Amino acid sequence: MIALANDPTAAAVLDTVPCYPVPPTGGSPAIDELRAAPAGRGIVVGHDGVMLIVRRPWLEADVPIAPSIAVHLPYGSIGATRGHLRCGLIPGDLREAVLDHLRAALPNEAAAFVIWNETTGTFSIDLPEIDRATPSRLVYRTPRLAAGCHLVCDIHSHGTAPAFFSDTDDVDDADTTKIAVVFGNLDAADGPTVAARLCTGGLFVLLPRDPFMGDHHAA
Ligand SMILES: [Zn+2]
Repeated sequence: MIALANDPTAAAVLDTVPCYPVPPTGGSPAIDELRAAPAGRGIVVGHDGVMLIVRRPWLEADVPIAPSIAVHLPYGSIGATRGHLRCGLIPGDLREAVLDHLRAALPNEAAAFVIWNETTGTFSIDLPEIDRATPSRLVYRTPRLAAGCHLVCDIHSHGTAPAFFSDTDDVDDADTTKIAVVFGNLDAADGPTVAARLCTGGLFVLLPRDPFMGDHHAA
């Protein structure tokens, strides 16, 4: 096979985010390997668009990132948008524990992380070191993770204000692959408002619900 780059460093960079055309038959060993990898990121190009494929031990995400290229390509289809938690939904009692923590900090904003241990398959909550907390701004640090542990969910509150992703949140969420969740209206009698999104490589994909088990519905 012809090399994609002569320079070994350039080749290694390309190898970290490979780009594959989709064969007319719809799949290839290279694409299958990317999809099955425990961790990785790549791009596939089809006649109907461009798809980002992201894998983490806890996550499978196939997200279209560009519409079809305006030239005839003899390629197959990129396939369906897909999001799957390899780790499963987060237990509902952790949602309640997080909400208790966020409510206890009122009127200030507060934060919590959900960590997943791939060895034991269990979830835990990590309460971050807070550098500064006010009713409208929170500065906190991401946790140091033990081997085999993954930050699945980065949660912060908007206190009694509604849940949404602010410009500051966009900056904070640009670098990591995680699910970001905001809980708002924490003083509301009919329950908090919630906003959730998958963050990866500077891309944000709004999710229809938060990643916790239970029959609650997103506001
Ligand atoms: Zn926010």
